[in-house]
Amino acid sequence: MRSLVAGNWKMNGLTAALGELGALKDGLAASSLACDVLVCPPATLIAQANGLVQGAFALGGQDCRAEASGAFTGDLSAEMLKDAGASYVIVGHSERRQYHGESDADVAAKARGAWRAGLKAIICLGETEAQRGAGAHHQVCAVQLEGSVPQDATAANTAIAYEPVWAIGTGKTPSSADILAMHAHIRACLVRRLGEAGQDVLILYGGSVNPNNCGDILNLPEVGGALVGGASLKAADFLAIITGIKAP
Ligand code: PEP
Repeated sequence: MRSLVAGNWKMNGLTAALGELGALKDGLAASSLACDVLVCPPATLIAQANGLVQGAFALGGQDCRAEASGAFTGDLSAEMLKDAGASYVIVGHSERRQYHGESDADVAAKARGAWRAGLKAIICLGETEAQRGAGAHHQVCAVQLEGSVPQDATAANTAIAYEPVWAIGTGKTPSSADILAMHAHIRACLVRRLGEAGQDVLILYGGSVNPNNCGDILNLPEVGGALVGGASLKAADFLAIITGIKAP
C-alpha cells in the first residue's frame, strides 16, 4: 500500500487560501511522488477546491455525522462531503473528541457513515501527555482502537492516524523509538481486531510534522505516512514533507 500524506487545515482557510492548493498542484506536477496526497480543507472550500485541483490530489472532510441526512442542524453527512468532491474523511480527531465529546462509539459510527457514502475513513487515536506520563499510552490506544475501528475495516476503506494529543500543534514529537514502538503496537492491535486485513491498513503518524523532522519520522518502518496540521497550510512546506518520503 502506498504511503499517504494528508493535510488537515482545521478551521483555517477562506477562498483566498485556494491559491495554496493551486501551488500544491503545480508543485506535485513537477515532482515524482512516492506517496498519495490528500488535503482536508474546511468543508466550505471542498467543492471549489475540487474544480481547481481536478484530481491532482485527493480532497477530504475533517469530520462527518454518522447519519446520511436528517434534522441535525449544522452537521454534514459523508454523502454531502462526497458530493462536494471528497474521497476521504477524518473521524475521531482529538479536537473533535475533546471539544465535541465524541466517544469511541461515535467515531466508529462515523467511520461506517463514511464507508456507506464511499469515502475512506482516517480514524484518529492517541494518548494525552498525562496518559503517556503514567505509562498508559499503549493501553489507551488499544482501547481507542478497539472502540473506534469497526471490525470490518480494511485497507481499502480505512487508515489509522496515531496522533499523540500532546504533540498536536505543540512542536513536540515522540522519539523515533517511541513512534516505532507505538506503530508496532497499533499494528498488533489491528491484526488482533481485523485478522489478516489488519496487516495492510496504513498507520499514519500525526503531531507537529514539519519539513525539518519529516525525514526522520516518515521513513520509519510501519509509518505509512503523516497527518499534518499547521505545516499543510503553506504549499511549500507541505510539498517539502511530501517529497521527503522515500520510495520503498
Ligand atoms: C493535526 O491536527 O492532526 C495535527 C497533526 O496538527 P499539527 O501538525 O499542527 O501538530
